[in-house]
Amino acid sequence: MVESDLRRSIPRTDHLLALPEVVAAGERLNQATIKAIISEVQNAARAGEIPVAEVAPAITSKLGSRSASSLAPVLNATGILVHTNLGRAPLSPAASQAITEAAGYVDVEMDLGTGKRSKRGTGVKAALLQASPAAEDVLVVNNGAAALLLAVTAMRGRSTGSGEIIISRGELIEIGAGFRLTDLMTTTGARLREVGTTNRTHLADYADAISDVTSCLLKVHTSNFRVEGFTSSVEVTDLRGLADEHNLPLIVDLGSGLFTPDPALPDEPDIDTALRAGADLVIVSGDKLLGGPQAGLILGRTEAVQTLAKHPLARALRTDKLTLAALEATITHTANPIHDALHMDPNHLRQRTEELAEAVGATVVEHDGRVGGGGAPGVPLPGWAIELPEDCAEPLRLGAPAIVARVHQGRCLVDLRCVSESEDNRIAAAIKRVRADNA
Ligand SMILES: *Cc1c(COP(=O)(O)O)cnc(C)c1O
Repeated sequence: MVESDLRRSIPRTDHLLALPEVVAAGERLNQATIKAIISEVQNAARAGEIPVAEVAPAITSKLGSRSASSLAPVLNATGILVHTNLGRAPLSPAASQAITEAAGYVDVEMDLGTGKRSKRGTGVKAALLQASPAAEDVLVVNNGAAALLLAVTAMRGRSTGSGEIIISRGELIEIGAGFRLTDLMTTTGARLREVGTTNRTHLADYADAISDVTSCLLKVHTSNFRVEGFTSSVEVTDLRGLADEHNLPLIVDLGSGLFTPDPALPDEPDIDTALRAGADLVIVSGDKLLGGPQAGLILGRTEAVQTLAKHPLARALRTDKLTLAALEATITHTANPIHDALHMDPNHLRQRTEELAEAVGATVVEHDGRVGGGGAPGVPLPGWAIELPEDCAEPLRLGAPAIVARVHQGRCLVDLRCVSESEDNRIAAAIKRVRADNA
């Protein structure tokens, strides 16, 4: 067929819009979305990717399967708890329910008793103070980066000149996809005063760098890397003494967000310890080890927290009602998928993995899970996976449910650590289908 004939034979938009299935879809989807799907299919036919006869059925099927958002639910079979590309922490049932309930009108800024305006975030604040008794005050912003931005900006206002932030060279990190915390801090106009070396920084290095333009001392968790061997860094307690001598605020950016030490991750710093050691402000993310929604938590001394809360930038970085609701639910309830995956009983994980291997005819191999998302760098979480040929990974990803396994050294590894046990049967069925198709 010559090209012009082909073009003429593709059903026209007005004909397609009049199809009963398309009209019915208009109850659910708006016209712009429907037209976009129609032209996408027409273009595929024009490009010869689908036959002309398939145009109408393809549109009907796409309209039928169009979900509310283009974000597709995924089963995380990588063994990485806080998987940055998969939305970091999955929310607990309580947090999901809180989001649904907060979706409509809520009393986020109204006292229902008096009918008068109230402060937003009081519930989450109370929950955070209960979970972290060493904190005098708290503030919640959009994410960890926003918390750091606000802290650095607000503390700069206390000092003269451009305001220097003193930070160890061993803590100048890039946290992912080219995002450097140092760039974030210097966009505020503050200057970084780097001290020490990559592997070793001493208290005297900080002390020597302090001048009348210093705005704060900053300690940053190295998150996604670890320096081993001849190393030394300065503890928060020692920095506290120095900060007191010079009346400087001490900010500690922990990244991960454990409230208290976790025996499963002995080297991972926690909020309580950092506050007791004397940090004025501790910064963590809500969607890393805390297992909540994206948020930046700032905990610490009243005066320091209030300096941030009163800064005009705080309004630009505030969280929405959905985040406040999910965060409060995460903190006040016990069930938490990240916590469960971190503390999974190894025998139970092994048993589930063996059952899966038996169901699909694969072998069990040792496989270490990881915290991910910049938590507990290099720390293995010993466990198991089933081993499949590498070419299973793509069809598993593209299937329903979408399953993301780990591709490593020419193998496709399915790790159940971050998968809810109730999904094990669906995973087995999906693997069987893929293996049958690949056979
Ligand atoms: C992850 C991380 C951040 C950024 O937090 P987001 O919530 O991703 O914005 C900042 N500092 C450290 C040390 C981190 O690990």
